[in-house]
Amino acid sequence: MLTIEWNKTTGWQKPHIVPYQNLSMDPASCVFHYAFECFEGMKAYKDKAGRIRLFRPDKNMERFNKSSARIALPNFSSTALTDLIAEFTKLESRFIPAERGYSLYLRPTMIGTQKTLGVGPPGSALLFVIASPVGPYYPTGFKAISLEATDYAVRAWPGGVGDKKLGANYAPCIVPQREAMSRGFQQNLWLFGAEEYCTEVGTMNLFAAIRDKQTGQKELITAPLDGTILNGVTRDSVLSLARERLEPEGWKVVERKYTMKELDDAANEGRLIEVFGSGTAAIVSPVRSISWRGKTVHCGLKDHEESGEVATKMKNWIEARQYGDEEHEWSYVC
Ligand code: PMP
Repeated sequence: MLTIEWNKTTGWQKPHIVPYQNLSMDPASCVFHYAFECFEGMKAYKDKAGRIRLFRPDKNMERFNKSSARIALPNFSSTALTDLIAEFTKLESRFIPAERGYSLYLRPTMIGTQKTLGVGPPGSALLFVIASPVGPYYPTGFKAISLEATDYAVRAWPGGVGDKKLGANYAPCIVPQREAMSRGFQQNLWLFGAEEYCTEVGTMNLFAAIRDKQTGQKELITAPLDGTILNGVTRDSVLSLARERLEPEGWKVVERKYTMKELDDAANEGRLIEVFGSGTAAIVSPVRSISWRGKTVHCGLKDHEESGEVATKMKNWIEARQYGDEEHEWSYVC
């Protein structure tokens, strides 16, 4: 693990790469009481030549710093942390299988370590990075998931911290998630407000491909970055690739609010082409159906299909850049 300590008088200390080990902490450390914790999720990939590559680490570092700043934890130079993570992954290279679909999941984390029950800005912090090899999310090909739209609880709200990757955002999501699972759904979809805007899913952003009612125009839509959803690195990658490669084919790519009713209307009128989630874990996750107000909204897949065209293309396009098959500035060679 990579560890770097900080305190407010001397700043960041020398980074260390040490064997994975327990942390020893005072029970009064502020992280345990007031949730001074933020984290990131990213992956390192091995390319055909055996080189290790990070995918858009600048985006994760930027988000990490925004998260830590929001909870009065210090920032760390984005480029310096990327370089340290690159050193760390090179050292642990043997844990990254070279096969397609495999990678090393990296978890940069920052916690407030000050021993105090007083509520205030932490005077000391620890930044650490742990890692684990991960295999393909869908070893036997895509498996479309079904979602339950949650209308009895909200994940985030305007002016809140839903766009920050704080541990405190995740614990309260588990009960609604568990409830959705108990009813046979893989994930829950967070709605917002009386309008029932679609926001995001568990640990994924959400995309819908719809044909416009009046013009027949094909639109790829996703919720805007209004502070209530996480600014997903995969979301940004999907948007960018869609603008580059789908718009020339006649698609319109839009970040705008859309409601569950809009999806339901489109589904009923045969205009809902496909729906998929996007996130570091699976890249894209096709959605078969969404349960909403006691009915099932079918999201455009035929019974025998596990993914729509756009989701399949996105997975291949993004993977090509992650593994360096397509040389691109998104890929950072360690
Ligand atoms: N939303 C939430 C709440 C998440 O935890 C994640 C995973 N980081 C995402 C969306 C997707 O973000 P990314 O594409 O950066 O993995």
